[in-house]
Amino acid sequence: MESVGVEGVANEVRTAFESGKTRSLAWRRSQLKALQRLLYEEEEGMFRALKEDLGKHQAEAYRDEVGILIKSVNYALENLKKWTTPRRVHIPLLAFPTRGELVPEPLGVVLVFASWNFPIGLSLEPLIGAIAAGNAIVLKPSELAPASCNFIAKSVSKYLDNMLVKVVRGGPDVGQKLLEQKWDKIFFTGSSRVARIVMAAAAKHLTPVAVELGGKSPAIFDSLESARDRKVAVERIAGAKWVPCSGQVCIGVDYVLVEEQYAPVLIDQLKATLEKFYPRFDCLSRIINEQHFQRLSNLIKDPSVAATIIHGGSLDSETLFIEPTILLDPPLDAEIMNEEIFGPLLPIITLKKIEDSIEFIRARPKPLVIYAFTKDEKLKSRITAETSSGSLTFNDTMIQFACDELPFGGVGGSGFGQYHGKFSFDLFSHTKAVLRRSFLLEFTFRYPPWDAWKLPF
Ligand code: NAD
Repeated sequence: MESVGVEGVANEVRTAFESGKTRSLAWRRSQLKALQRLLYEEEEGMFRALKEDLGKHQAEAYRDEVGILIKSVNYALENLKKWTTPRRVHIPLLAFPTRGELVPEPLGVVLVFASWNFPIGLSLEPLIGAIAAGNAIVLKPSELAPASCNFIAKSVSKYLDNMLVKVVRGGPDVGQKLLEQKWDKIFFTGSSRVARIVMAAAAKHLTPVAVELGGKSPAIFDSLESARDRKVAVERIAGAKWVPCSGQVCIGVDYVLVEEQYAPVLIDQLKATLEKFYPRFDCLSRIINEQHFQRLSNLIKDPSVAATIIHGGSLDSETLFIEPTILLDPPLDAEIMNEEIFGPLLPIITLKKIEDSIEFIRARPKPLVIYAFTKDEKLKSRITAETSSGSLTFNDTMIQFACDELPFGGVGGSGFGQYHGKFSFDLFSHTKAVLRRSFLLEFTFRYPPWDAWKLPF
């Protein structure tokens, strides 16, 4: 497999970009179609890589990565013409006769950093928008998912235009070398620690950045009225805590807020759901590596936290599996309630009144997503108006990620820059304001000398 060198890769790709090839719709369409072929023809390779890196089940790999990518690339192909067509805008009569247009143009050469938890999905999803917008791209997948990283490097070089789309493999040292170079945009998915490094490096070249981070995304669990609704709600919470990648997911439920009186019902339902979802543990992904396994073990090691475990809690350092674990009211100053968990541990925090959840969330950094299970329209309005988060989903989880017309991204500590669908196209484009005047009319009052008749009053 050809390995792309890191030194000077930005200039190399910039030279190719300067040829103007990416500006044509034909090139963009051909690359998106090539990506579509890659997704169909290399499905098995993706399943194998995700199994090897994360023990991810094929069904989950399709649902969360391959299937989402196919949907996104199809959507971009369907809309490419519309997105790239300049849009006429209203111009004040004063400027008559004039035409105003919004003309999207590619930013140039973009650098994409991806994280390891959805190592293929989060590498290729930004590529779709960047290609549709006509950019040249250098992609650095996460070294922590080596099989997926190798798969991406090999298949991108097999299917896509190698002069204009390149994959660089490596860890932080390689990331640093990339950051020393000049880019027209950096798109980063990962931790806030590394995002700070990326932003400091980008500032040197005045490079705009989009950072997709994580944080602690809560689920508010209101009483709900029927047992059936409670069951559905809890399955949806479990579906965002344990199902995707064993909780190693940025839009997973980090913790649940519930009124004291409903906590027993919630806990019973969570336990029943775990029994139903995992009669065997072969459907659970494993923790990515020893370091993250250790980090998660430490979160529940403290005796004051360990004492609050009400379900699960077993860990296998050989296989890196952690049992789905529920904690009831761990201390709020413990690390587990202050760091992003990113694993299969679920704290439940009880409140006197469900309305207190608003204050609880407001007192903490802005989450990537807030999930709220309630039928109370007043509570819904209050949550919408009084909290801030990248997105807000009522009565479901994760599904917002698959909606092309909803932007995906964070706010405050959970990041900035929205993508998916047309939002990706816009993120990787510059919207140029183009104004076309004619020589037909001329208003001399806009020039000096400033005689009295030229004054507006
Ligand atoms: P990370 O910050 O460790 O790594 C992200 C990328 O940066 C990787 O490609 C890595 O190789 C690179 N990198 C690491 N150190 C670097 C350095 N010093 N210089 C340059 N590059 C460097 O993050 P991670 O562990 O891969 O991902 C986990 C985090 O990502 C979690 O916080 C999670 O919430 C977040 N995340 C966010 C989203 C989202 O879409 N918002 C999606 C997935 C994960």
